[in-house]
Amino acid sequence: MSEEATEKRAREDESADGPAVPQEGESGPHAGAGHGEPDKSAKKTEDSAAPSRAEVSNYEIVEHWFDVAADRLELPDDVAAVLRSSYREVQVQVPVRLGDGKLHVFSGYRVQHNGARGPYKGGIRFHPEVDLDEVRALAELMTWKTAIVNLPYGGAKGGVNVDPSKLEAREVQAVARSFMDKIEKVLGPTRDIPAPDVGTNAQVMAWLMDEYGKLHGHTPACVTGKPIALEGSYGREAATGRGVVQVFREAAPQVELDPAGARFVVQGFGNVGSWAARLMQELGGTMVGAADASGAIASGNGIDAEKLAEHMRDGGSVGDFDGSAEEIEPDELLALECDVFIPAALGGMIHKANAGRMRCRMIVEGANSPTTPAADEILNDKGVLIVPDVLANAGGVVVSYFEWVQNLQHFRWDEEQVNERLGEIMRRAFGEVANRAQENGTPMRPAAYELGIERVVEAASTRGYI
Ligand code: NAD
Repeated sequence: MSEEATEKRAREDESADGPAVPQEGESGPHAGAGHGEPDKSAKKTEDSAAPSRAEVSNYEIVEHWFDVAADRLELPDDVAAVLRSSYREVQVQVPVRLGDGKLHVFSGYRVQHNGARGPYKGGIRFHPEVDLDEVRALAELMTWKTAIVNLPYGGAKGGVNVDPSKLEAREVQAVARSFMDKIEKVLGPTRDIPAPDVGTNAQVMAWLMDEYGKLHGHTPACVTGKPIALEGSYGREAATGRGVVQVFREAAPQVELDPAGARFVVQGFGNVGSWAARLMQELGGTMVGAADASGAIASGNGIDAEKLAEHMRDGGSVGDFDGSAEEIEPDELLALECDVFIPAALGGMIHKANAGRMRCRMIVEGANSPTTPAADEILNDKGVLIVPDVLANAGGVVVSYFEWVQNLQHFRWDEEQVNERLGEIMRRAFGEVANRAQENGTPMRPAAYELGIERVVEAASTRGYI
């Protein structure tokens, strides 16, 4: 491990001992959006009931794993420096007149990390914790992810520092359109193609596409994750969760687990978590714990994932689910005994201070960067198998790729075709990463990073860029 990586680890060890967030921050509607002022408000989690998170940032997590892989691949320092930094970072003001009649200015970001393998690709997040560091980290993660599953894309990410849960739908629409107006010049089907992420969904993608179309003419391939009615792809909404379950099936034999009878816990019951839960249940699994930002529940007899998803669709939350499950402290979710733990919320939720309490046989990372390097080491030592984010949650970008291909061809595939092709890509990528891990004698995460970085280096040097 490089000196830099060791230093980062040391910083994490110092900082991960106690609850780091929530921090003090402005509350109430339109938090963080001062009248006519740039958004400099303190970051805040969605709910005070949120479990503790490590202070180590997503950026430090991604950099740590990059450094480990770069060392193993013996990348020259100058090449590593190019690969580590972003190609382009755009920060914009997003002024919106909200329901209170005042102009509020949010901060918006789009980071294009590396485009050696194709147009930049990555989601757009609307969340009060979004900042440049986080978007930069997630953009880099996308570069390695698209390379690991071998898609002809580079990596990007975007976000607006806003809490959509505090806004009316028409206000969210205004934020989306204003953001698109500010960043459209660096986007487009052959340049950079956004998709949904935390706090955004198919409806937000529809507004983004419509706004882009006003300036450039109807261009469905400019964003993915769109509604079916607007040239979205069948299967896109469930794709990330489906991919999580597909790699889980491949990985289960490594811990001698029958995939059809697994007891699992889902942290973050949003798009990724709720689909993963429903598909795990369809496979014969039992959900014994679940959480969202509002709270956590557990039941040894099982929580019906379908019913919980329906409850959420009707505007409910995990905390007020009227099932037979018992409400537990969010921090206790991690300590539930289960076969599989699926983090599907935000980054840094499994850290040094709580990893030792986990009682699962495997972790399949639906979220991006949910596990800090220190936690990863603790879990590896405990013999917990981790299927890393860069592989496990790639199903979304795979079906986004299918959507882009369909849009460019103006030809729609049916859902069965989408799911089958997704399965082929996820299984192939899992096999490549698992084989490399076995050959190297390392866990899957370093093997996955090595594979992704190697592919990007090959493309960049073949282009003559490095
Ligand atoms: P989402 O907004 O639909 O869901 C996020 C969920 O996490 C919500 O239920 C929210 O309440 C919950 N949450 C937030 N803070 C929490 C906390 N402290 N404790 C427990 N739960 C908490 O977002 P999503 O699209 O499902 O994304 C979830 C994760 O998956 C993110 O890390 C995202 O980057 C990653 N991801 C998403 C996609 C995708 O296609 N949507 C693809 C790849 C990776």
